[in-house]
Amino acid sequence: MAGGVSHNKILFGLGLGAVAGIVANTLTQNSPAAKETLDTAIDSVAHPVGQIFLRLLFVVVMPLVFASIVVGVASLGDLGRLGKMGAKTLLFFVITSGASAVLGIAAMALVRPGSGFGQETVAELQRKYAGDVASYASKADANRTTDLLGTVNQILDMFLPRNMLKAAVEMQMIPVILFALLVGAALTRVEQRKREDLSTWMEALADAMVEIVGFAMKLAPYAVFCLIFGVTARFGLGLLQKLGLYVVLILGCYLIQICVLYPVLLVTMARRNPWRFLRDAMPMMVTAFSTSSSSATLPTSLRIARESLGIRPQVAGFVLPLGATMNMNGTALFEGAVVLFVAQVFGIDLSLGEQFTVVGMCILTAIGAAGVPGGALPLLMGVMAQVGVPPDGIAIILGVDRLLDMGRTVVNVLGDQICAAYIEAGERRSDSAAA
Ligand code: ASP
Repeated sequence: MAGGVSHNKILFGLGLGAVAGIVANTLTQNSPAAKETLDTAIDSVAHPVGQIFLRLLFVVVMPLVFASIVVGVASLGDLGRLGKMGAKTLLFFVITSGASAVLGIAAMALVRPGSGFGQETVAELQRKYAGDVASYASKADANRTTDLLGTVNQILDMFLPRNMLKAAVEMQMIPVILFALLVGAALTRVEQRKREDLSTWMEALADAMVEIVGFAMKLAPYAVFCLIFGVTARFGLGLLQKLGLYVVLILGCYLIQICVLYPVLLVTMARRNPWRFLRDAMPMMVTAFSTSSSSATLPTSLRIARESLGIRPQVAGFVLPLGATMNMNGTALFEGAVVLFVAQVFGIDLSLGEQFTVVGMCILTAIGAAGVPGGALPLLMGVMAQVGVPPDGIAIILGVDRLLDMGRTVVNVLGDQICAAYIEAGERRSDSAAA
């Protein structure tokens, strides 16, 4: 159960919303007046209901992340243990992201869906999505500096900005995580009574935030219906036919990840029953699918970890916020696949060395991508440029990207939760060895 709402009810809302949207899209395709009425219904009803759900989740992210990490680190007590946990977590992130990127590249290299892709369709799509491409390109440019000092300052700002409140207001997760780690670490040196006082406060704050997630989950079946309806009702179904093989291949890779690779990790590294784990993680997966945002899903992930998966708060509070920003396996897979697909469309052959560069860049950009819908796209354009694939070629896939974004966000958040279960297993082993 997710806050008193059954998974089935949420899944039902998801399925019904998708079907209703597709039907509405088909029925209004040839009538501009009907299309306008549909747009009005989406903007005035579906959008606000979906947004109330999303905002209830977003609003708790920063206080929940801050409080969970402070409590977690302060209760670990031993900073050496935190360092070991951090190193294991980061290694897990890098290896699983790298393997995911390889899977995406291999699938595209084997099937080659981009070879022989109609050049008129390419020109049409580039014309249609030129505006979107320009806005992603300007986001990518905003992050680019050429001189050394600029780059150093940019890295410093990314981890340790001058103003922590500003970072929190802008939802920059990495500095807030690092600041919370600092506060937690500092607390371990503070007098015990004061440390316990603040920890109790922080614990109460985290608990209250989790309760708010519970309120949001009560709305989930209706909100999920509205969010998915808004996507499928406006989706270019015709485009889906043209890009069918590309879409099916990427969704197939996500399925391999969820149904084969993740269960193997769950059994071998986290010592969990994969079936039960996936079932318990269902509300988190549905939230990720319908919001396309790892950040919006984070509160639900934290709640599921402590209430259904038996992962202790100090582990979940440390691993999951880090994972929501830094570990995006689905995104790494998608980026690798897109670079190869667009290269095939333009008849560009990437050497093995260049493909390795793509894997490395996918790992890095998956770390840097924001956990919001389409968060990976500006960075993906940078990866394409790096290996000589025209970044504007991203226009070819933009029309179907929302669908793939929903899928990759599920893979992203599930990867984080599996990492938390793996770290939890290690912590339990150390506890029983110490006992
Ligand atoms: N939507 C993804 C996430 O939030 C990021 C992306 O791949 O665009 O995890």
